[in-house]
Amino acid sequence: MITFKGKGVYGAVAIGHISVFKRNETSVKRIHVDDVAAEKARLETAKEKASQQLSEIYNKALKEVGEANAQIFEIHIMMLEDDDYNDSISSIIETQSVNAEYAVAVTADNFAEMFSSMDDAYMQARSADVRDISNRIIKCLSEEDGESSASDEKVIICADDLAPSETVLLDKDKVLAFVTAYGSSNSHTAILARNMNIPAIIGVGEEFLKTVKCGDMAIVDGFTGEIFVNPDDDTISRLEKKKTDDEEKKRLLQELKGKENITLDGTKINIYANIGSVDNIGAVLASDAGGIGLFRSEFLYLENTDYPTEEQQFSAYKRVLESMAGKKVIIRTLDIGADKQADYFNLAKEENPALGCRAIRICLTRPEIFKTQLRALYRASIYGNLGIMFPMITSVSELERILAICEEVRNELQDDGIAISNKTELGIMIETPAAAIISDRLASMVDFFSVGTNDLTQYTLACDRQNAAIEQFVDTHHEAVLRLIEMSAKNAHEHGAWIGICGELAADTALTETFLRMGIDELSVSPSFVLKIRDAVRHCNLKKEVTL
Ligand code: PEP
Ligand code: MG
Repeated sequence: MITFKGKGVYGAVAIGHISVFKRNETSVKRIHVDDVAAEKARLETAKEKASQQLSEIYNKALKEVGEANAQIFEIHIMMLEDDDYNDSISSIIETQSVNAEYAVAVTADNFAEMFSSMDDAYMQARSADVRDISNRIIKCLSEEDGESSASDEKVIICADDLAPSETVLLDKDKVLAFVTAYGSSNSHTAILARNMNIPAIIGVGEEFLKTVKCGDMAIVDGFTGEIFVNPDDDTISRLEKKKTDDEEKKRLLQELKGKENITLDGTKINIYANIGSVDNIGAVLASDAGGIGLFRSEFLYLENTDYPTEEQQFSAYKRVLESMAGKKVIIRTLDIGADKQADYFNLAKEENPALGCRAIRICLTRPEIFKTQLRALYRASIYGNLGIMFPMITSVSELERILAICEEVRNELQDDGIAISNKTELGIMIETPAAAIISDRLASMVDFFSVGTNDLTQYTLACDRQNAAIEQFVDTHHEAVLRLIEMSAKNAHEHGAWIGICGELAADTALTETFLRMGIDELSVSPSFVLKIRDAVRHCNLKKEVTL
């Protein structure tokens, strides 16, 4: 048995086999082949396999995210059959006597370059699609050489690190746990693991990946951050017991379903859930959350290889609102940039991306993207109780511009005879020290605040949330952060706005009473933490004197 230790980001135990995560960007070598016909036959088999995979993905997407979102996979299937694309691959194999992988990779480069040099934005975006299908064929070609991963068994995914876009694309039905060599606890990958309700450990170190191999038996202890590879019998029985005890504790929490979020002295609070995808709604409904406090809409963009259209977005937002049947649904507008990258945005490389052109700054510099999202949101607003929230706010003038664009969109829709709700609340994230400090000015302009403690902590303590090396300097209970939250709560209430917290700190039960004493109206957490927070709230007594 070998034991590795990192940081647990979701407390639970998983026992199973390891699967080492392979990136799509397979590095391709140019290899001479003697038998060109055999190489072309290999290519045909791989293409058939790719096409079959795409049909399966299409059917899954159709069920989970609707027709509009699934369409992209239909386009991929069509591209696989494109004559020009296929002629180019065959001709490279024939004329150069080279392996199929190489011919596919060269064709992908040529076509991607051709698409991206076109004037039309739609055609430009096809560049990412052609790379995507080519990577799939290359992967199918290499799987044929014995690297198959087509198993239905749930596995422990081990990787150097996972980008948020890679995490959202993993098949959730096949993931038992995550373990990564690098990464930090507030990264979006860690947040996604919590949302997915699965044990996860990050930052176990480089040695780990050199040691483990696909198929190794392992136990992940998300509480202690330990992973036991090829565990001995004692460890297996100890961790099996821990797993059963944990499941029993979580089962007991289920008894709180249907109960109020009320303190011993009678103060009530809303407990909502955070989601990153329409797929998470089942978990929200099962968690008994009173609403959705944060829908990170950028994951709709990360799941796509092109800008999601107004129709695609509309159907996703409508689905969330309808599923929540009149409960509050707060959808945050696009928060892309920094660690959340989508190739088709073609964002410039930045020295300090967390301080760069991200989130609302992209929306204000590229208003066509922003307006498309706002149109979809307002159109969906009649299907439920919508709140629209804007990320990364730092100034009054920025908020004035945003509100003016919202008004413009509402007027355009009304002129087109499209019905919209007049009850949609508008709010902002308090996630920069600037926003907290001027929260008195901002509060009178909006209906609500939601504190993004992940970014607020990063910017207040000057600690990059992506940098695992400085985690020792991140005091999540730092007085400066707590004072900024308290100041924002006071200002919100004095100016007629309500205030919630949707960053990861909202799930920290050591602070539940502190937040309630500050007058926080809502806590929004991963669905798996809703009942835990309800339990903590029900144990608080705000009438009891506290000595400082
Ligand atoms: C935050 O910053 O706390 C937040 C909720 O937003 P995100 O984690 O998506 O940046
Ligand atoms: Mg944030």
